[in-house]
Amino acid sequence: MTTTTETRPFQAEAAELLSLVVHSLYKQREVFLRELVSNASDALDKRRIEGLKDARVALEREGAIRIEVDRARRTIAIDDDGIGMSREELATNLGTIARSGTRAFLDSLRREGQTAPSLIGQFGVGFYASFLVADEVVVVSRRAGSDEAWRWRSDGQGSFTIEPAERAEPGTTVTLRLRAQQESDDEDPADFLEEHAIREVVRRWSDFVEHPIRMQVEREQDGQRVREWETLNSRRPLWTRKKEEIRREEYDAFYTRLAHDWTPPAEVVHLRAEGTLEYTALLFVPGQRPMDLFDGTQGRSRVSLYVRRVLIMEDCQDLLPPWLRFVRGVVDASDLPLNVSREVLQQNAQVRQIHKHLVKRLLDALRAMLESDRARYARVWADFGPVLKEGIVTGADEDGRISKLALFETTHGAEPSTLSEYVARKREGQPAIWYLTGAERRVLEGSPHLELFRRRGEEVLFLVDPVDEWVVEHLREFEGLPLRRADRAQDLESSAEKEAREQLDREHRAALEALESELAGQIASARFTARLKDSPAALATEEGGLSANLERILRAARQDVPKSKRVLELNPDHALVKRYLEAQAAEPRSARAQDLAQLLLGQALLAEGSPLPDPARFSKLLARLYA
Ligand code: ADP
Repeated sequence: MTTTTETRPFQAEAAELLSLVVHSLYKQREVFLRELVSNASDALDKRRIEGLKDARVALEREGAIRIEVDRARRTIAIDDDGIGMSREELATNLGTIARSGTRAFLDSLRREGQTAPSLIGQFGVGFYASFLVADEVVVVSRRAGSDEAWRWRSDGQGSFTIEPAERAEPGTTVTLRLRAQQESDDEDPADFLEEHAIREVVRRWSDFVEHPIRMQVEREQDGQRVREWETLNSRRPLWTRKKEEIRREEYDAFYTRLAHDWTPPAEVVHLRAEGTLEYTALLFVPGQRPMDLFDGTQGRSRVSLYVRRVLIMEDCQDLLPPWLRFVRGVVDASDLPLNVSREVLQQNAQVRQIHKHLVKRLLDALRAMLESDRARYARVWADFGPVLKEGIVTGADEDGRISKLALFETTHGAEPSTLSEYVARKREGQPAIWYLTGAERRVLEGSPHLELFRRRGEEVLFLVDPVDEWVVEHLREFEGLPLRRADRAQDLESSAEKEAREQLDREHRAALEALESELAGQIASARFTARLKDSPAALATEEGGLSANLERILRAARQDVPKSKRVLELNPDHALVKRYLEAQAAEPRSARAQDLAQLLLGQALLAEGSPLPDPARFSKLLARLYA
């Protein structure tokens, strides 16, 4: 056993974080207590779970968290009967917080301008919050199952020391020496030594902590002052209480603690199932999109599973499908075994039932919100619609319950619309729900393909979320109306139009062939169309062909995609098309005819928001055209 004290530096990132934390959090300095209490509570949970497998670790009595104050020394100590830390654990857990994503934290703080409290909440600065109020922190810890205790000490200035210590029982004591008041402090950190201050902070942040949080309080008894232990937290988990008795602020506070998110939730679903399958669920739809929603490693459910108020598993994957992974909350089931493993859960019929219920109740709640509070719903959809739509893509929408919730941008107006609303507005005899896909509404609004639909008075949806390309593959129709691309060739020709077009195509066969060969490799074919009135040309997708948008998305995801060849549709009445035909007639395949062919393609690409293969050449051609 080492008897000398060892000094080691903090990781550089930790030191940098420290100063950021202190500066961005100082207004909410009291959170240090919440963080330390949470750590103590986690340590008690860990000990209980490990204790199920290893009797040497188990705690025979009820575990507690104690807050002890020494006014003379200006110290406040948080003491627990938890799992404790070995020497190595002290060094790694408290010496670096790389595990909690330090780098990402620092970067986002810099981006967001250092003050966003929700960011801080999402990462949980934890133990480091101690240095908001302390100039020295001493941690004495003994790992459950071991006889050795260690003392970790740091002034938060870049290094820490570890030395052997004594401790009668396993657990951890974190002692903070509160620093003197500085100019930047509104209040003296020593105010936290007051009983009422501690009481208030514990109530505000840690009331639902399952373990008792105790403090020695002074009381008048028969004319004498006596000190006794008092439990500060109510310990009664919110979900076990009756819905009617819970105030909205209580739900919000619970959510904040659970999700470390200061934005109140957009929706609360609190339900109790009784009968053969007994459980309580308290679920939240967040009020804002978390930063890691689309992060591969975080794309997992965030619902914790409890059995009779005892936490069994955080982020239980089997309670909700991945397309509801933005939902946070807890499920407390009555009849599951305490030591249930992940593998067993997957097979468990009860869990599957709960899963089904929860999905239904959440979708019902969203539907009710859509009907009763459109503005709030629109925000929820903007944040989480892309995730919900994954449900359509993965085949969870047989009954249309997700597609009925979807909102899409549309030519109808500035507000997004449901498909049912679209269908209700459709023109008599309109054959399909039309849509265009692309990166941005603004670009799609200028699409030449819209000309025809404007003339016909038919609405077109703008699908601007990448996942929409897959959504429309799965969602072939809605309320009996097929979904169809508005840029697919010839869908809407009348027989007279078709005849006229074919006549034109025959008449100008040679010019069209010359155009196809000049633009070989970029288009599949060229032909006339009656759709366009203002634009000279547009690119249409052929049945089964890849859309320009999908091609763009796949390339952005670094996938190898064959360059899709589309149909160049020409407006026979447009001056640019006429010039091309004249040039061809005067001298087939002349340089002028070739230039005009490139111009026709270039403007069609620009109109749909696609990149030009050779922008320099295009701009020269354009300049020459006007010269
Ligand atoms: P976080 O809680 O977000 O992981 P912290 O900086 O608060 O980050 O704590 C770092 C780690 O130190 C914890 O994950 C835990 O392993 C350990 N730790 C902190 N406090 C205690 C404690 N009271 N008992 C046991 N381990 C603790």
